[in-house]
Amino acid sequence: KRPADRYIKGVQLGEGTYGVVNKAIDSKTGQVVAIKKIRLGAQKEGVNFTALREIKLLKELKDQNIIELIDAFPHKDNLHLVFEFMESDLEAVIRDRNIVLSPGDVKSFIQMTLKGLAFCHKKWVLHRDMKPNNLLIGADGQLKLADFGLARLFGSPGRKFTHQVFARWYRAPELLFGTKQYGSAVDVWAAACIFAELLLRRPFLQGSSDIDQLGKIFAAFGTPKTAQWPDMLYLPDYVEYQFVPAPPLRSLFPMASDDCLDLLSKMFTYDPNVRITAEQALEHRYFSSVPAPTKPAQLPRPP
Ligand code: ADP
Repeated sequence: KRPADRYIKGVQLGEGTYGVVNKAIDSKTGQVVAIKKIRLGAQKEGVNFTALREIKLLKELKDQNIIELIDAFPHKDNLHLVFEFMESDLEAVIRDRNIVLSPGDVKSFIQMTLKGLAFCHKKWVLHRDMKPNNLLIGADGQLKLADFGLARLFGSPGRKFTHQVFARWYRAPELLFGTKQYGSAVDVWAAACIFAELLLRRPFLQGSSDIDQLGKIFAAFGTPKTAQWPDMLYLPDYVEYQFVPAPPLRSLFPMASDDCLDLLSKMFTYDPNVRITAEQALEHRYFSSVPAPTKPAQLPRPP
């Protein structure tokens, strides 16, 4: 029996960066799943072996805060990736005007995000495309990072779909300056943007182009000085920007606690070598001070 026959295809859930996503049922186990169809377009010689080998590694990546890749198989020029089905995502929570997010709720969401990141970074896997709609929420309230490793495996196929443009808002300054040797710090910057978005209930740094994105970052944190980020000058797309001073972070997040602002500023550090890691962030006193993070089952969720 072909692997494709094992899954009974249901409604289309959406269209993402790589192709359509359908709800499905695993006829063997009865489990509800989401199947992501990836167009192999460019690599016409079928599914290349490197991709399949890497997917095998992703299948081993199992953690409470990582969406599980249950199965992967080629079918009609497409690669099908089978994931556990998730009820909602963080973008829906942030945008829902009827949802009130308490400081404990924000703490819980960002803690689960950092736990998922720390786990993958420990295994040397980067996400590279963190954004609120990639943070899925299960029926039990657990937040899980989706699409881990896919950005590197399949690339970011241009800005084909309009919502893809949003990814720019989560891009670290070293990426905007064209670095080729980025590391896990890019995911921490994106997590910081998501943290800020949970506090503000709107995307924090909404650049309209890559240049404008850097402008928005500099307006929020001040133009980086060489002493703050020595390697900046050697990045491929580095250009000198007119100096702007940093406003107090407090003025941008009037309702946040001191602990919250301290962690946020460490995640928004310019120099990726100095930026706090996901693992270090989880040790920050923000997570041990009151209020405690809300238990996943008690978190608010969209109807
Ligand atoms: P993007 O490329 O924009 O991140 P995806 O390809 O991940 O989008 O997903 C497209 C749509 O499919 C999303 O809007 C999401 O709601 C839905 N989706 C993706 N994965 C799952 C899943 N595991 N469970 C339920 N819905 C999912």
